[in-house]
Amino acid sequence: LLFDEDFVAEQRVRLTGRRLQHVRAVHRAGVGDLLRVGRVGGRMGEGRVVELSDEQLLLEVRLDQEPPRPLLLCLVLALPRPKMLKRVLQAVTSLGVKQIYLVNSYRVEKSFWGSPLLQPEKLREHLVLGLEQARDTLMPQVHLRPRFKPFVEDELPQLIRDTLPLVAHPVAEQPCPPGVAGPVTLAIGPEGGFIPYEVELLQAGGFTPVSLGERILRVETAVPVLVSRLKPPGSA
Ligand code: SAM
Repeated sequence: LLFDEDFVAEQRVRLTGRRLQHVRAVHRAGVGDLLRVGRVGGRMGEGRVVELSDEQLLLEVRLDQEPPRPLLLCLVLALPRPKMLKRVLQAVTSLGVKQIYLVNSYRVEKSFWGSPLLQPEKLREHLVLGLEQARDTLMPQVHLRPRFKPFVEDELPQLIRDTLPLVAHPVAEQPCPPGVAGPVTLAIGPEGGFIPYEVELLQAGGFTPVSLGERILRVETAVPVLVSRLKPPGSA
């Protein structure tokens, strides 16, 4: 259970609204119960329910554990359809990814950029679910880049500095490495794949195309497989 704005004092947390309903429905908590809690961006620990009513839940918390270390992997993901994006965001958040760039690409449907899911508070809901799943508190940063070329040419060079830049591409000759020695920047295409021009642009920027083999995976499968395969040492 993660909280931030509900934080009242050093050791007291008050939950209302959706968060209160969630604790009642999912955790079925009652007075005296212990819940695992964490403060967004901070420490984690236990919270004892000291009061529970229709209006609020009061927890007395002890936060004495550090969250897991972040995964040293920056994800550059062609914006998937909203239904898939929810699942991908939750999965990569629970795997420890902290930098996510949602980018445009020729085969990304324009309507996806109008999805309400891209509003910060909606994105946050799914990131929180991923964090809670993994017992983590460090919120990933999600950046929206609706123009591919300026992003690749102007922003990526700085982003990939001191990282291994890889683009997942099913027809690449080089297989995806089974592990890596340091931080990674990983680009993943849309449902229809990157077009050759986009792969060339990424290659010109220093990216190496890598393949996971001849099976073509759905984005929601390919992303967690690649992220866990490329987990650099020292990460969570
Ligand atoms: N027909 C598309 C193509 O050939 O690129 C398939 C795209 S796939 C559904 C979506 C994205 O997942 C790809 O752009 C790639 O980044 C990643 N992906 C899926 N399967 C892969 C594989 N076997 N090797 C490398 N990347 C893969």
